[in-house]
Amino acid sequence: MDNVLVQKYGGTSVGSTKKIKRIAQNIVRNKKNGLKVVVVVSAMGNTTNELISKALEVNKQPPSRELDMLLATGEQVSISLLAMAIKSLGHDVISLTGGQCGILTDGNHKKAKITEIKTDRLLSELEQDKIIIVAGFQGIDNCNDITTLGRGGSDTTAVALAAALKADMCEIYTDVDGVYTTDPRIVQNASLIDKISYDEMLELASLGSSVLHPRSVELARKFKVPLVVKSSFTMNKGTIVTEVDTMEKVVVRGLALDQEIAKISILEVPDKPGIAYKLFAELAKNNIGVDIIIQNINRNSVNDISFTVKIDDLDEAVEISEKIVSEIGAKKVIYDKAVSKLSVVGAGISGSAEVASIFFKSLYELGINIQTISSSQIKISCIIETDKALKALTYLHDKFHLSGLNGEDAVI
Ligand code: ADP
Ligand code: ASP
Ligand code: MG
Repeated sequence: MDNVLVQKYGGTSVGSTKKIKRIAQNIVRNKKNGLKVVVVVSAMGNTTNELISKALEVNKQPPSRELDMLLATGEQVSISLLAMAIKSLGHDVISLTGGQCGILTDGNHKKAKITEIKTDRLLSELEQDKIIIVAGFQGIDNCNDITTLGRGGSDTTAVALAAALKADMCEIYTDVDGVYTTDPRIVQNASLIDKISYDEMLELASLGSSVLHPRSVELARKFKVPLVVKSSFTMNKGTIVTEVDTMEKVVVRGLALDQEIAKISILEVPDKPGIAYKLFAELAKNNIGVDIIIQNINRNSVNDISFTVKIDDLDEAVEISEKIVSEIGAKKVIYDKAVSKLSVVGAGISGSAEVASIFFKSLYELGINIQTISSSQIKISCIIETDKALKALTYLHDKFHLSGLNGEDAVI
């Protein structure tokens, strides 16, 4: 189908009925311009957090299936209100839950993955010239149970729909003017980026830049969906996420800080084949994502193994690790919640000792100890103590000359 536009409005953009009415006008404007519009919305304002708090009031460990059932209601409030607002402007519109619009997922509650989108319903509603409003962040599994895609997952709903409908563009409306060189709410003089590659955006998002859900960028890259991130308040032109050719320049695109991690260490692990496998296979079986892994230098036939997990997975990961410790004859499990991951992202970083040198020198100048380092083609990450992380972010932003870029690249 031609001329399909997918738009997504985040929580703050639908934070009040007044804002919903304003957005309705923007949607209708696009419809009047001849586009077939599919809109994905998040829950209003802080609703998802409030629902989680309520769940915790009645059960300290809410069952995942029931939590998904509860959280999915947040988005249902927004879609129905937005559809009513659009109807009041005299346009045909229909709101659909994830299940109603054919978003099928696996059965992994709280972090389900989209397995298929059955587009029949969407296509038929679009053919009837209706605007479609879809509840973000949710789908149904093969038992018809409601699932959710993980916090921030509405971005992924939008890109998945754009890919399935072969939309010309997917617009992500949020509360800042686009993607900045780092979180503009922490570093006030961060620069707005005009254009960023899928690879760089995927790294930034995966490393903690919450402006886009990492899986949405992964999908956009896979299906070549052009993405634009912009503000629903100013409607300025925003940031385009697409293929970008930087040739052989070493470009520092931005910095990311993830404070939502924890480090687990298993002490005195016997140094023999199969031990790491046992531990990480068990974590994988329980769907726990593991990030930076290090094994220290062997002494007296024992090693220490450390790894980071998302803070939400900490309790479960510690429980699994403790079980494994007794099985493999290691000493004990310790963990640290007061750690953060600070990363620098940009094309060509792996070939540049200069970037690593600026990064490590800056931390040294601030008296910050680096607990762990990891790197890839386009990023370097360090685990440091959370207390000093915000200061380090601002300092590094300055040292990499990321302020006042006005659309230029920060080339090293
Ligand atoms: P929404 O509800 O619209 O999905 P989010 O809160 O999920 O909004 O994402 C937008 C927020 O992402 C911004 O308010 C900003 O604080 C944060 N953010 C973190 N890193 C960046 C970055 N590099 N560029 C822009 N925003 C960022
Ligand atoms: N409402 C969900 C959340 O707050 C999904 C989203 O906003 O993308 O995480
Ligand atoms: Mg978001």
